[in-house]
Amino acid sequence: MIFETNGGELQYKDIDVPKPKPNEILINVKYSGVCHTDLHAWKGDWPLATKLPLVGGHEGAGEVVAIGENVTGWELGDLAGIKWLNGSCLSCEFCITSKESNCPHADLSGYTHDGSFQQYATADAVQAARIPKGTDLAQVAPILCAGITVYKALKTADLTAGQWVAISGAAGGLGSLAVQYAKAMGYRVVGIDGGADKGEFAKSMGAEAFVDFLTSKDLVKDVIKATNGGPHGVINVSVSERAMQQSVEYVRPAGTVVLVGLPAGAKVSASVFDSVVKTISIKGSYVGNRADSAEAIEFFSRGLIKCPIKVVGLSELPKVYELMAEGKILGRYVVDTYK
Ligand code: NAD
Ligand code: ZN
Repeated sequence: MIFETNGGELQYKDIDVPKPKPNEILINVKYSGVCHTDLHAWKGDWPLATKLPLVGGHEGAGEVVAIGENVTGWELGDLAGIKWLNGSCLSCEFCITSKESNCPHADLSGYTHDGSFQQYATADAVQAARIPKGTDLAQVAPILCAGITVYKALKTADLTAGQWVAISGAAGGLGSLAVQYAKAMGYRVVGIDGGADKGEFAKSMGAEAFVDFLTSKDLVKDVIKATNGGPHGVINVSVSERAMQQSVEYVRPAGTVVLVGLPAGAKVSASVFDSVVKTISIKGSYVGNRADSAEAIEFFSRGLIKCPIKVVGLSELPKVYELMAEGKILGRYVVDTYK
């Protein structure tokens, strides 16, 4: 599935199998999750240019079928995952301090590097995710971006077991996993999203309380009430500037607001007085490093996270984007690259 211009036609057609560079592996992608980032990339929402033409996708799960001549530690037949961070320089200030996603030379799957919406894709052997043998590849696919990202965001919120965390955007792809990781990490979850179906869904993922942004008359007040004083942490995974703005207001004193969702052109402003006197932190969180990735996959492999997926053919990607833009998706769509 390839496009030549941002927002242009999504073409489902045969293209050449890429040849792995000396540092890369070639992965026969079986399934790929569809992240809202893929929609942003196709539309050209962000102040960072995509490669064009581009094959999107960065939650690809498959099998290693070729190995570059400089690669060690991978064998043909190993299960491998394509993550957002396809490769990084490994020698800059950020890479050597395990902040690889901040590398100025980062190569991004489905953005600056053709991604997983195809049957064969390349990945830097150092950054490719290791997936244990026998893993269900459709199930694990969403972990490769959504899972890693929300797990890292929860670590960034720096919470203690028993504390409240708000997941804003709780029924979406990232949100549905964030609720589960939060629970597995011992936190109490209030989900925020819109609609009764999304409320029930967030609760089925493990949210203890739910606030509906569509029906709440005063969302800030309702979230504070549901958490007896405000959540200690907030993971913002909605694609809504307003939701992020509200989170700065309802977070508990001494709490942490984590920004993850990337609505086009959004800004968050905070009252200096309130930020100081409430002593809140506002932090950005951007995917995860190799350790975060391995840990996030381990939570999944231990059976603590179940990805709520709906599998459709890759040829149906345009329809998935439509549903996503309309906010009609519960959990994650995963595409089968052979359909
Ligand atoms: P999604 O479309 O599956 O989910 C978004 C959810 O937000 C939906 O359930 C929607 O109903 C809900 N929502 C909309 N308005 C809301 C509001 N006002 N309050 C609460 N909830 C609201 O999207 P996704 O795939 O989960 O991705 C979410 C965002 O995260 C995207 O912007 C994506 O680009 C970004 N993202 C960031 C990173 C990172 O590393 N920071 C990684 C992956 C994705
Ligand atoms: Zn993503």
